[in-house]
Amino acid sequence: MTEILPVTEDSLKEAKRLILRGDAVAFPTETVYGLGANAYDTAAVNKIFEIKGRPNDNPLIVHVHKDFDISTLVADVPGYAKILAEKFLPGPLTMVYRSKGAVSSAVSCGLDTLAIRIPSHEGAQKFLKYVGLPIAAPSANVSKHVSPTSAEHVLFDLNGKIDLILDGGECSGGIESTVLDCTGDIPVVLRSGLVSREMVEEAVGACREYAYREGGVARSPGMKYKHYAPACRTEMFEPAQYEQALALYDFEKAKGTKVCIICDGEGKKLVGDRKYMCLGATPGEMASNLYAELREGEKTSDLLIVISPADRSGVMAGVMNRLTKACGKRYEN
Ligand code: AMP
Ligand code: MG
Repeated sequence: MTEILPVTEDSLKEAKRLILRGDAVAFPTETVYGLGANAYDTAAVNKIFEIKGRPNDNPLIVHVHKDFDISTLVADVPGYAKILAEKFLPGPLTMVYRSKGAVSSAVSCGLDTLAIRIPSHEGAQKFLKYVGLPIAAPSANVSKHVSPTSAEHVLFDLNGKIDLILDGGECSGGIESTVLDCTGDIPVVLRSGLVSREMVEEAVGACREYAYREGGVARSPGMKYKHYAPACRTEMFEPAQYEQALALYDFEKAKGTKVCIICDGEGKKLVGDRKYMCLGATPGEMASNLYAELREGEKTSDLLIVISPADRSGVMAGVMNRLTKACGKRYEN
């Protein structure tokens, strides 16, 4: 039986009991819900991979409380990383450093680096403080499904597989953290998110985007995998192809397919009286709504037709990365 409990003294006590005995607990963050286990405990970390059906070469992010001394876990923190930490943490930014090998090697799947995140969500901070351990945590969904942004989403994917979901309401951020490689001379975005490449560049003067080429060695192994996909069929169109998108909608609808369009505020003006879900008017809104809409879409539709937003800069790089993955197309990172 999986219990959903609000974050209180009692539920935190139970969460700590479960973590200390080597179980995984779902907890809220400002990005998506995480499935956390004691990062020092190899059997507990392996349980996360098992529960999610996650490929065992896709490393996990270690979550720590804001007062945790990360120098016990990682070495060679460069000057620019200190500036970024000062500016963006706690927050939706994961930073990759050289590992000291203090946590279980299962966390990084044998890599000599470790990804660290300090979430800003109050519930996450309370949980991390209460357990007092670094917590290895991927998103709390079944591998390759859409990430969860509410306790109900976690329950849908993991009911019966874990004992406890700490409920901290809906995640405001909505897409996974930015992953930033901080092992080189300048920071490199391995996965885009709410802290955009432009924001990092403005803070420290330089930042590159890492482009994974299919078949190559991925610097961030998670890039190789199709993620975030809803269970129904999906088709994605560029804004300029909207007439094709509408024609497909009409064709499928006439056949009796349950079909819905996903679009932004601009796309909404083009769809007439067809069924649609609008991601939002701003990049922040679109990030925040994306996964809840994909989950709603897969429940109510056979086919989701995406008319993609035109803007690809800043936070929209992260939104477009997820949308593209959800539609099963080739993606860059
Ligand atoms: P998830 O927790 O499901 O959001 O996935 C974690 C992401 O962080 C994946 O894309 C991983 O590839 C990436 N990641 C975790 N640890 C490392 C690391 N040591 N080096 C590079 N990328 C990492
Ligand atoms: Mg994930």
